[in-house]
Amino acid sequence: MMLDTHAHLDFSEFDADRDDVVQRMRQVGIDNLIIPGVSPEHWPKQLAIAKQYQSYFALGIHPWFCPENVDETISALTLLVSQLRECPRFVAIGECGLDKLYPDNWNLQLLFFEAQLALAHDVNLPIIIHAVKAHQEVLSYLKRHKLPRGGVIHAFSGSSDIALEYTKLGFKLGIGGLIMNPNAKKLLKTVSELPLDSFLLETDSPAMTPLNVTDKRNQPANAVLFMDKIATLQKKSSVLISEHLVLNAMQLFDL
Ligand SMILES: [Zn+2]
Repeated sequence: MMLDTHAHLDFSEFDADRDDVVQRMRQVGIDNLIIPGVSPEHWPKQLAIAKQYQSYFALGIHPWFCPENVDETISALTLLVSQLRECPRFVAIGECGLDKLYPDNWNLQLLFFEAQLALAHDVNLPIIIHAVKAHQEVLSYLKRHKLPRGGVIHAFSGSSDIALEYTKLGFKLGIGGLIMNPNAKKLLKTVSELPLDSFLLETDSPAMTPLNVTDKRNQPANAVLFMDKIATLQKKSSVLISEHLVLNAMQLFDL
């Protein structure tokens, strides 16, 4: 059994051939995926797709999609979370976080990130975090809001030192397409050095397409390539790595 812990299967890039994408994923041995939430406008379609494919899902507001009406949006998220809390496929808050490559709405990002950390704490769920050029800020928030169930820093690309700071706080690191890039030296070093307990397997489909694949979109089936690469870097067999990575996901998200 394998799991893609971060795939935006609801995005329009998959509207034309979503069934085929899911079938390809299953053919290569990936049984299921987690669809992260990104904004109130996206939630209805996200939930419909998650239901259709019986996928796991998270609910949240992504830093690129922060609406101006903060209080109203957080209330809507809180209400939806309470309505769906008992659904066994609802596994996390997010994706949320901070992205310095999108500096225009930085103050909104901070408000939404803090509110979602508080929500994850209140409802006792792990959190899926998008952190780009903002590890120091994210770490300082995580130290202030100690989350009992931790979470994942998705699409992690940083050094071993930063990775260890996160794992000390109960977080895992989502490893995806960037691992196929030989120039991602820091990430390759991190994946070869840290214990296997530190990682989750993910694609971030349709984004983060790895080098040397023909489809311009990333897709969940590609997670197998990343898993093999993690195995090479960790000098272990692919079977052992896949078992361990799925166990990490099952533990974090209580699947
Ligand atoms: Zn994402």
